[in-house]
Amino acid sequence: MVDAADNVGGRQDVGRLTQVRSSADRPGAFPLLADDHGCGWRASGEAVPADFWKRNLRVSRNKRRSGSTLGFFRSQARSKGPRLKNTLDRLARDCRGTSILETRNERDGSLGQESTKTLFQEIHRLCHVEGLYPLGWIERTECPCCGASRFQEAFKKLGIRHSRCAECDYVCVDPYPPPQVMEVLYSGDYYTRMREFYELPRLRDQGIGSAYSAPVELLDALIAKGTGGRESGAWLDVGGGLGAFASLVSRRAPGWNVSLNEMNVKSIEIARDLLKLDVLPEDSAVLRAEGREFDVVSSIAVLEHVVDPVAFVSDYAALLKPGGLLITVVPHFTRLNVHVSKASNSNVVPPFHLSLFGADNLERLLRRTELFSGFETMQGGGASFTLIDHAEHWMYWDSLLPDADHAEIRTVRTEEYPLPLNIVLNALSLAVPVTSEYFAATDGMAHLAICATRKNVTPFGK
Ligand SMILES: [Zn+2]
Repeated sequence: MVDAADNVGGRQDVGRLTQVRSSADRPGAFPLLADDHGCGWRASGEAVPADFWKRNLRVSRNKRRSGSTLGFFRSQARSKGPRLKNTLDRLARDCRGTSILETRNERDGSLGQESTKTLFQEIHRLCHVEGLYPLGWIERTECPCCGASRFQEAFKKLGIRHSRCAECDYVCVDPYPPPQVMEVLYSGDYYTRMREFYELPRLRDQGIGSAYSAPVELLDALIAKGTGGRESGAWLDVGGGLGAFASLVSRRAPGWNVSLNEMNVKSIEIARDLLKLDVLPEDSAVLRAEGREFDVVSSIAVLEHVVDPVAFVSDYAALLKPGGLLITVVPHFTRLNVHVSKASNSNVVPPFHLSLFGADNLERLLRRTELFSGFETMQGGGASFTLIDHAEHWMYWDSLLPDADHAEIRTVRTEEYPLPLNIVLNALSLAVPVTSEYFAATDGMAHLAICATRKNVTPFGK
């Protein structure tokens, strides 16, 4: 566990599971970084044009005085920090009201066609047009992690409000979508095209390694923890999509009986045909009624999508044998994400990500169920917080959905940065490579995992 401030209560530091992206991973100056499964975007500043310093006399003088670009920005931050911040705030306010939903066709320059082409278009259509946001959406009355009812508005993204629990810093989409909107969200263009044009071809061509929702080092550590060196056992992976993780468990633990719990008809078909997985398409209540029991129940990047995370955890924990392990992996929304990055963090993808958890409040949620006797937390991936997110840049970006011609996620900038924002992003970009390891170690890494051990109780509570 790397969240040094929280390193109490039996959590273990399992060390750096994945290297923080280094500057060597970023060819050219300040490219954008799409997140691992394309379910978000993360962008840095544009490179400064070669003649930028010549064209801007004031900047040139400052640059000469300080002797380096970084030195210049250090001096600027000291003398002009508040003014730049004010400019940025104004830009961010102005941008909120503008449309970012039109993109240009890369081939002929025409404006976006009728069908959904980008992630933001999809969210806008499903929430604001068809989903009638906020009409019929449901207000959260109680924090699922700590039970408190003191919610404060945290931020908005794409016009969708997020609240923060004043007690435990849990952040959520509030109000959240009603069942009929949830249904269309997961049968819409984004999920359909992601599966059809992006995940499936990669799965076929590059193997299951292409389809993991978390770094494989972290997943391997979780599999080792789950099997505990035992030769055989029963493992259920919940909401595992096409079955990449379930398939990894099968290969790492060949003696184990691994099942995939997935409801999506197309995903089930692929998991069975392509990965030869055992699929249980029933919900947890049915599986329990059938008397099924598991040594391990895992959910990788699922809990952040569900409307009622306490019910989800309780229902699936009921399928565990006494002493069994519930393994939960979520995107990590750290303290700096809650209080600094806010909407700019790439894991803020309303209303797909309904809950944004930190290590503390996720453990509180599990404790509240009174079903578990012990917890162990792990993290993986790069730093969850990046200095780039200090400047609000997300509204300048969007992601093109994959199609038959482009079997990948393409993150596109829909508007030029105003110069002041560009300067700030460049300054922050220079600082990112030298600070990311520090933030990974002190604030937290991008993927958070928690292993919770089911209490040894009989069905009668004795
Ligand atoms: Zn709370």
